[in-house]
This record gives sequence, structure tokens and C-alpha cells, in this order.
Amino acid sequence: MSNIPFLNLKLINQPYEKSINEAIKKSVASGWFVLGAEVKKFETSFAKYCETKHCIGVANGLDALVLLLKASDFPADSEIIVPSNTYIASILAISLAGLKPILVEPNEDTFLIDPNKIEEKISKKTKAILVVHLYGKCCEMESISKIAQKYDLKIFEDAAQSHGAFYRGRKAGNLSDGAGFSFYPTKNLGAMGDAGAITTNDDILAEKIKSLRNYGSGEKYIFDYQGLNSRLDELQAAILNVKILNLDIENKFRQRIAKRFLSEITNKKIVLPTNQTVEEDAWHLFVVRVSNREEFRQYLSSNGIGTDVHYPIPPHKQQAYREWNNRSFPISEKIHNEVVSIPLNIALTDFQVDYIIEKINLY
Ligand SMILES: *Cc1c(COP(=O)(O)O)cnc(C)c1O
Repeated sequence: MSNIPFLNLKLINQPYEKSINEAIKKSVASGWFVLGAEVKKFETSFAKYCETKHCIGVANGLDALVLLLKASDFPADSEIIVPSNTYIASILAISLAGLKPILVEPNEDTFLIDPNKIEEKISKKTKAILVVHLYGKCCEMESISKIAQKYDLKIFEDAAQSHGAFYRGRKAGNLSDGAGFSFYPTKNLGAMGDAGAITTNDDILAEKIKSLRNYGSGEKYIFDYQGLNSRLDELQAAILNVKILNLDIENKFRQRIAKRFLSEITNKKIVLPTNQTVEEDAWHLFVVRVSNREEFRQYLSSNGIGTDVHYPIPPHKQQAYREWNNRSFPISEKIHNEVVSIPLNIALTDFQVDYIIEKINLY
């Protein structure tokens, strides 16, 4: 029997262990631990990677989104459109910025916000659309941009799952007024602790976020805004500076596995993700749909294959948003009931991919 964990963080970092240890040693010796040379270097390379003018390193992905929204200075009760099926951080960021999340259902096949359902949710108070490039696939930005233009709305990206994904030749993070990234250890570009960043082409927004991440201070002991402490530390930046060099190679590796799953999994009980943009997606997760999820997970588990669910309970059914518990988002509910993530990571061998495909086809 095989033993294929859903994701083993030790294994996916093993190729970098030596370089990371050297980078950490250098950082320790430098005696400078927060917002220093490694952070600057990472901000420059990640901006270049995303093809944006600016990158601002912050403490985590949630803060990246909160800071984008806070820096935008919307009136207190403004409404922000967001997909109803996402990791809760996208929605929490809106609440934490003192704004109102307005949920819009996804398209069942792409799992992404359905552009056809946005317009009916726009009111006089709507100020922005926060799209989420869920599982590593970019949203339909062309239709979404048209809507934003028509109603004079800002667009922001939650790009926490889409480092390196493309939309019609442009990188995720460069498809809107500003994007939030997470470098949580499980992401396509993962640190060894919490880390995040904002990318934008807007000079004023970038300047303001730089201040807001550091207590609202641009100059030492001078406070222009009521900011927060959301600084990126040197150790995490040093680790990211090592791993970013291989991000494209890792994403290509993920794409190759995704392509194999898409063409070789032929079991009719399994609904595969759409394959229309296989070369553009970052394949953060490979998410299939099955009507009897628990049985399927049990079956794979008894064959030594680990799975996960992203995510089992939709945000509107969480206690954190109990005021929404009776609202109905049938597509999100269906998706949350049926999705299963199968292993897709850089530690998988060809033999393990063969085995996963074989076992899924025998289900
Ligand atoms: C991981 C993630 C976040 C939050 O990032 P953290 O670094 O954990 O704060 C936000 N949105 C999505 C879609 C994510 O997957």
C-alpha cells in the first residue's frame, strides 16, 4: 500500500533546505530583523514577477486585503462585492476594514464569482469588487472590468492562491487596482511562517499602504494615519527570496500533474475541474466534485491517499456570520458539499501520480 499525504510541508521544502539555512544564517548575522534589505529585495523581485509597479510586504494575506481596503478610504458603510464561496479571509478582510461584504454566487464549473450575477447586487453604496482567483485560476476579469467601469467601482484581487497564474497574458496581481497575496506555508509560494504582500500599480495607494503597515508612519515617530502593525520580517523575506527563484518551475510541475489528472481520470463519478486554461492556471489545488464525498475520501484514505476539503462549510453558514445563516446561496452550498482536493504538489513522483489516477478510476 502507498502512503501519499495530501501535502507534506517538510518534503516540499526539502529541495531548498540548504539555501534556506544559508539565507537564515546571513539574516541572523545581519542583526536587522524587520523591514530591511531582504524585505526590499523580495518586494522588488515579487513586483517584477507580477509585472506590477509596486509590491509591499506585510505580515500575512488577510492583512494584505485589509490594508488594501483601508488604504482605499471608502465611507464607513460602503459595500464590497465578494464571492460567496471562498476561504473566509476574503470576507473577513472586508468586515475588518469596517465595510459590508455583499456575497455573489460563483459559476458551478469554474468555482469563480459569476460575472452575470454581480450587477443585480450593486447598490449606491457599492464601492468595489473583491475577486478571488480561487484554487489558482483567474476570474473572468474582462466582464468584471466592464461592470466596474460602468458603475465606477474599484476592483481588488484576492490572489492568495494564484501566484504566477495568468489571465490573457497578464499575471494575477496585475489585473486590478490592487491585489493581496499570502505566503502561508501551503501556498504556491510559501514562507516558513506567516507572510503576505500587496501588489499595485497605483503610486498613492502603495505609499499609503507602506505607511499603514507600520502604524501609519512614514517617518520615524511621525504618525499620519491610525495604522496597524503588519510588517514582513527579514527571515520570512529571506526564505521567500530563495523560493521565488523556482516558483515558475514549481508551477509548471503542478501544471503537468494537473494535465495528467485531467486527461487520465476517466471515472464518470468524478467531476473534474474545467481544463480550458490549464496552461494559465497556477493549480494551487486540484479540486474535483463527487456526490458522496465522505465515501470517496474514505476509499482514497484506505488506499493510502490523503485528501482535503477546501472548504467544507460556506462562509454564510459559519457562526462568525450568523446573521447570514438563513440566507440561501444554493450553488455555494452545493460546491461546499461536493468538493474534494486530491494531492497536487511538487513532492509527488510520477509513480504516485499513476497510483492516484489508477485508484480514482477504480472507485
Ligand atoms: C490563505 C488565504 C488567505 C489568507 O492568507 P493568510 O496569509 O492565511 O492570512 C486569503 N484568501 C485566500 C483565498 C486564501 O487562500
